[in-house]
Amino acid sequence: MRPAFVPGLAQLSDKVFTYLQPDGGLGLSNAGLIGSGQDALLIDTFFDLAHTRRMLDEIARRVTPTIGRVVNTHHNGDHCWGNQLLPGAEIIGHRRCAELMRSLPPESLQRLKDLPDTVPAARALRAGLERFDFRGIEITPPTTFVPDDGMSLDVDGVRLDLLYVGPAHTAGDVIAHLPEAGIVFTGDVLFRNCAPIGWEGTFERWIAALERIAALAPQTVVPGHGPVCGADAALEMRDYLKYVRAEAERLFATGASVEEAALKIDLGPYADWLESERIVFSVDRAYRELRGEPYDAPVDFGGLMVIAQRVRTAHEEAAKRRGKVH
Ligand SMILES: [Zn+2]
Repeated sequence: MRPAFVPGLAQLSDKVFTYLQPDGGLGLSNAGLIGSGQDALLIDTFFDLAHTRRMLDEIARRVTPTIGRVVNTHHNGDHCWGNQLLPGAEIIGHRRCAELMRSLPPESLQRLKDLPDTVPAARALRAGLERFDFRGIEITPPTTFVPDDGMSLDVDGVRLDLLYVGPAHTAGDVIAHLPEAGIVFTGDVLFRNCAPIGWEGTFERWIAALERIAALAPQTVVPGHGPVCGADAALEMRDYLKYVRAEAERLFATGASVEEAALKIDLGPYADWLESERIVFSVDRAYRELRGEPYDAPVDFGGLMVIAQRVRTAHEEAAKRRGKVH
């Protein structure tokens, strides 16, 4: 069963729910809930306390579970910065997820929001961050670790397999597979109708992670961002990553800069994906791999955001031109 992409809680099967946040762009992630009684488990919290509270209120109103466990699919704030609202819950994630959770303090995003418009990186991010309030967040990392070879849990009689698939989108990526229900919660290993952005990981591992999702043959896939989909979506994003990597490799050989390459790559069927300018981050990852740099070396986020903003403008102009043609 595929729910419509509307905000809020939707039931996927007996005892399995998802909470969706359209449009799935920056910071608007999806979560999962398993169990409806005294033994419930939440998959991911949200980017700030208000968004997480809104979800927990709706869950309490409609499902009335006792959430004793939380799984964080990875360390990005839009998947864990509401953890503190479940005091006493066991927080589960990969060791690298726990280690990286403090790498970006919420206050730094709040400061970015408060910077004057004359700072280009701030201007680029401002619009996307406007709806979030990063004050009062206390980082609450996992204390129970998903081993590299995964672990199985029983949640209110539902089998849940937590599979480590990093370093793909980040070093600590975990996906949640419910084999009996035929459902996978992918975290940000999968973005749907939205260009992916990656941090500490490799193309090879990310492509393998997407193929692993497809190999599980789920009927229902809840991406980290975007509408609920099927396993074909994982292969579609794999094809995007393969294509962008191959194009970046070709342009790297010509001496093109990251920005030049990002502007030159013809996005074809992917041109209408949300946040298409994130191709800058994929090209930069490809370039770092081609230079032989370690996968977890720090990324110049601010610098890439400025480039991405220029690429966004170019993509918007191209979309207008396409509109004229049709
Ligand atoms: Zn995310």
